[in-house]
Amino acid sequence: ATNARTAPLRLLIAAPRGFCAGVDRAIEIVERAIERYGAPVYVRHEIVHNRFVVDSLKAKGAIFVEELDEVPDGVPVVFSAHGVPKSVPANAEERGLDYLDATCPLVSKVHRQAERQVEAGRHIVFIGHKGHPEVVGTFGQVPDGAMTLVETVEDVAALSFGPDEPLAYLSQTTLSVDDTAQIIAALEDRYPAIVAPKADDICYATSNRQAAVKAIAGECQLVLVIGAPNSSNSLRLVEVAQRMGACAQLVQRGTDVDPAWLDGIDTVGLTAGASAPEVLVREVVDRIAQFRPLTEEVVRTAQERITFKLPRQLQD
Ligand code: SF4
Repeated sequence: ATNARTAPLRLLIAAPRGFCAGVDRAIEIVERAIERYGAPVYVRHEIVHNRFVVDSLKAKGAIFVEELDEVPDGVPVVFSAHGVPKSVPANAEERGLDYLDATCPLVSKVHRQAERQVEAGRHIVFIGHKGHPEVVGTFGQVPDGAMTLVETVEDVAALSFGPDEPLAYLSQTTLSVDDTAQIIAALEDRYPAIVAPKADDICYATSNRQAAVKAIAGECQLVLVIGAPNSSNSLRLVEVAQRMGACAQLVQRGTDVDPAWLDGIDTVGLTAGASAPEVLVREVVDRIAQFRPLTEEVVRTAQERITFKLPRQLQD
């Protein structure tokens, strides 16, 4: 056992991992808003689902609240990357608040599709996780009753639409690629005329991170995923690794790594959800290195070059 514990550990680091273009943009919006308007700047909901990010923005002068009525008059407010129901900007306008929308453009794209399908007279079946802020935001783009949530293949079987009902489906951006394909197959099987989105609603960052962890998990006994327990895309990375037969753990910081996890293990995988900063990856690597000598290898399965423009108010 002593030998196993001191033998060098092979660390496979997935790429792409960590911040996506939507998270980068959302954080930059808060930082630039603080520079432009001065502190405090209010943010409705965690700007991205990561405590480390939220705490560093708090230190710079951001104040996080859950609802708009907690924002005092006369101060700017930022809406989080997950998107908001239409009622939120409407409410901000009524109150004369300056607001900046950090909704990821790929979430906004789903919002616009939802509106278009409703205008075309179709009922929307929405694949997503109940209660996730992105789901709440997308439901809030259309009138009550225009959209039905399904989370599983079983939910599809329980739908009671008639065969002639005009239907379309859309999905949350951060779902499991494999599970969603099954749910879509079940939907198309029951409702062959259901209208699909023009392009996959699951975003490039979600699918790239899942493919990257899949590429390493088969070789790893343990996969560590850096992310928050309320981060949908991070939880999906844990599932992907588990389905490849690895033991997978969600960790928020270096100190979450229990040295006992490394007992008898020779290959560990490491990745990070789209809202987890790269500094935490280094923190976790350093933590592991306290217990075992290690060799690092980056395994890259895709290049990402996508970036999004800032909102008009913040462009120079
Ligand atoms: Fe946008 Fe995808 Fe990142 Fe969400 S995970 S912020 S949809 S790029």
